[in-house]
Amino acid sequence: MPISTPALVVLTPGQAFERGTIDRRDVGPNDVLIDIAYAGICHSDIHQAREEWGRAIFPMVPGHEIAGIVREVGAKVTKHAVGDRVGIGCFVDSCRECENCLAGEEQFCLKGNVATYNGRQYDGSETYGGYSTLIVADENYVLRIPDGIPLDAAAPLLCAGITTYSPLRHWNAGPGTRVAVIGMGGLGHMAVQIAHAMGAHVTVLSRTLAKQDEGLALGADEYFATADPSTLKSLRNRFDLIINTVSADIDVDRYLSTLRLDGALVFVGLPEKPQRFRVFSLTGARRSIAGSNIGGIRETQEMLDFCADHRIASVIETITADDVTGAYDRVVRGDVRYRFVIDTGTIPAATVPAV
Ligand code: NAP
Ligand code: ZN
Ligand code: ZN
Repeated sequence: MPISTPALVVLTPGQAFERGTIDRRDVGPNDVLIDIAYAGICHSDIHQAREEWGRAIFPMVPGHEIAGIVREVGAKVTKHAVGDRVGIGCFVDSCRECENCLAGEEQFCLKGNVATYNGRQYDGSETYGGYSTLIVADENYVLRIPDGIPLDAAAPLLCAGITTYSPLRHWNAGPGTRVAVIGMGGLGHMAVQIAHAMGAHVTVLSRTLAKQDEGLALGADEYFATADPSTLKSLRNRFDLIINTVSADIDVDRYLSTLRLDGALVFVGLPEKPQRFRVFSLTGARRSIAGSNIGGIRETQEMLDFCADHRIASVIETITADDVTGAYDRVVRGDVRYRFVIDTGTIPAATVPAV
């Protein structure tokens, strides 16, 4: 018997959220049923709910930064127990047998993993995300949230946290390395905290100095405004690693010029349009351009434990179900410090199913 669940639904691209109900599958032997307490609003939710990345599945229930409490477990579940504090990130299944899945890099599953929403299970049924009150998922795709992190501030770690942790680890951020973060938003404010905790020297490259005090308080060593064209000129040959979290176009050549020998410019922000650069900007100092996509399950757990050990969490503004449509506009305007988190207890059951 499917489980009817209240949710916030977008019926067509860009429309306001409506309260509705969705069906979750019954709890299978390997499944965990989670009462969702909080769901973060990632800029990727906005891209998809507005269909900015190409064809999406509607009606849509976004949300891939999910934190809650286990209510029920299937007969074969060993990793989680009733009452545990848990989270779900950007995918809820993967093929489990391709070389990338076997390497623990399920985010790069060759069959294609099952996105938490705007995706399909391998049986073809649509997936619905965290803007709802409960979710059923295979235990292998559910993370433990350490006791030290409040559930609301933990939710954004499931995407913003792992998306920045993974490239910082991969490109060896640490003592003696100089890391720059472009964009002081949801991903950016996590990148600053994590890179600082890893021991790197951290520089924020923001459009203005409006968030400078908070950036420095979160662990940045330096903070520059890129709206001033002379700023990047003054930072030539400076960084080992740049994490670009901006979803708009950037002047790639100008940022490449700020990398030292062998430095890397890593895109995690996902602009709609292709980006341009001069090959000379790479060859001049053996620089590289790369991209990174969330992280695998094992690394996501490592990130959560790392954040607990270093007393890191997301800086959040908690909102109700009624605020979500307006919050999307505020994120796009850059008016959020630094992540909106929906209190999913404010999504009441609707009487008429919307999906
Ligand atoms: P966000 O909270 O809106 O932060 C983006 C930041 O970029 C803003 O705070 C702003 O920082 C800067 N920015 C915004 N518009 C800009 C513009 N026109 N020009 C220059 N800078 C601008 O968004 P987010 O949730 O961190 O997500 C950022 C991007 O990462 C999105 O494209 C999202 O889809 C993508 N993403 C990718 C992954 C992945 O796995 N690769 C995972 C999650 C999200 P300042 O005000 O400091 O300039
Ligand atoms: Zn996300
Ligand atoms: Zn796979």
